[in-house]
Amino acid sequence: MAAQFNIGDIVWAKLSSFPPWPSKIVRPKKDIKKPKGKKPVYFVFFYGTEDHAWVKAENLKPFEEYKDQMIKANKGKRFHQAVEAVEAVLRKGGGAKDTDDIDHEEVVPSSKPVQKTYSREPLLGKTVSPSTSIGLKRPPESLGAEASIILKRPREDNESDLYNFDESEHETESDIVTSKDDITPTCLKIGFLGLGIMGSGMVRNLIKTGHSVMVWNRTPMKCRDLVQAGASVGGTVNEVVAACDITFGCVADPNAVRDLVFGTSGVLQSIRPGKAYVEMSTIDVETVQDVAESIESRGGRFLEAPVIGTRKPAEDGMLVIVAGGDRSLFDDCESCFLAMGKKAFYLGEIGSGTRMKLVANMVLGSVMAGYAEGMSLAERAGLDLQTVLDVFKEGPLNCAAVRSKGDAILHSRFEPSFPLKHQQKDMRLALALGDELKQSLPVAAAANEMFKRAISLGNGDNDMSSVYRATAL
Ligand code: NAP
Repeated sequence: MAAQFNIGDIVWAKLSSFPPWPSKIVRPKKDIKKPKGKKPVYFVFFYGTEDHAWVKAENLKPFEEYKDQMIKANKGKRFHQAVEAVEAVLRKGGGAKDTDDIDHEEVVPSSKPVQKTYSREPLLGKTVSPSTSIGLKRPPESLGAEASIILKRPREDNESDLYNFDESEHETESDIVTSKDDITPTCLKIGFLGLGIMGSGMVRNLIKTGHSVMVWNRTPMKCRDLVQAGASVGGTVNEVVAACDITFGCVADPNAVRDLVFGTSGVLQSIRPGKAYVEMSTIDVETVQDVAESIESRGGRFLEAPVIGTRKPAEDGMLVIVAGGDRSLFDDCESCFLAMGKKAFYLGEIGSGTRMKLVANMVLGSVMAGYAEGMSLAERAGLDLQTVLDVFKEGPLNCAAVRSKGDAILHSRFEPSFPLKHQQKDMRLALALGDELKQSLPVAAAANEMFKRAISLGNGDNDMSSVYRATAL
């Protein structure tokens, strides 16, 4: 039988993907509804994150009794800050008499059912760090512009792909490690348009995590594998939008997006109040704004959510998502973003996600072009390219991009992870943004010329690393 607690008791509270967290049983807040289910739950306050949540009694443990064990098992900085916070309260004689939440409604425990989110409980089984989950679950007006959804997992030794950077250097929130198995899929019906390199991996992860997905692709053959994996298929774009609550799009470029949205039988045909569209393609701000206006003028909700990461992160569900637009839609996409990505950022107004994505890819393209040039120089100078790569791997250039794209150059293996034509499109769009903002971008402009040359040499459909071929003269 689960232990019984009283208001004011200091406990370890475990939300599934978090480490047990120093917490206190408090009276429930009126605006945080109780979760569904028959098991008794207590309302707790989390030290350090200043967050609240309903937690099942079975996931609570007395603080003092388990202190040594918990502290030994958890190393995160935030965790230890939370432990220090609770110790300070205990030193001051807090705990049972520390009634800072007394203005709330009724007494715990309770097992009454409840409908919807804006509580911490729907996050049980999900993968959001204690600090950032506050942002996710509070109404938009209480948030700053930025908020994020995080999924973390152990890194595999042999993992190497562009943009699949080593996370260990960048841990900021906590040491949470969890898996996609913990995701609770939204009950909303999900549509997905565009099953290229990226879309097919993203849909597979939506299906794997239990989402109900309907797909469409211009070339229908590409739907076959995903239908076998459990997706249903729509005959037209507007059939998908009509059947689904949230439809995602991930296609080649601005023209493809305009075809998809404004075309005959396109997205707009079925947009009405209650429908939502999320644009995940990398396009320009003007196109994003046109799409947003059209969707919203028909009463639908719109979010831009381009992705950072290439074929492997898409397959592994480890993309980084940079979103802008309707905040409530960002929240409704939570389980989808956790399925497709390792982190989703909400950056604010429409256009902010697109600008972020274009800056990221402009830097990436410039780095790739410089790298290709360096490899050519090394070759011309009579250096062995494998040795060059080995040297790079031991120094400050050791990153996923240098490793994976170096191997591609070394072995002339240019099968596309990120097609070069899309990289050049992103350079072009970033340069146009620079023009608009009167920002000088000489390095990116030179890199763009290399990508254009690579396309003229027939490398558009090869991986972006084949820009190396444009340096070989
Ligand atoms: P891809 O493999 O070339 O696939 C392109 C997709 O767009 C296909 O589904 C294609 O349909 C569809 N499409 C093209 N023109 C269309 C049109 N006029 N109407 C309807 N559908 C059309 O591209 P991807 O690599 O998946 O990239 C998709 C988007 O994600 C791009 O905006 C890209 O810049 C961005 N992105 C890519 C990567 C990456 O590493 N690959 C990384 C981050 C972001 P068909 O199958 O019929 O050709």
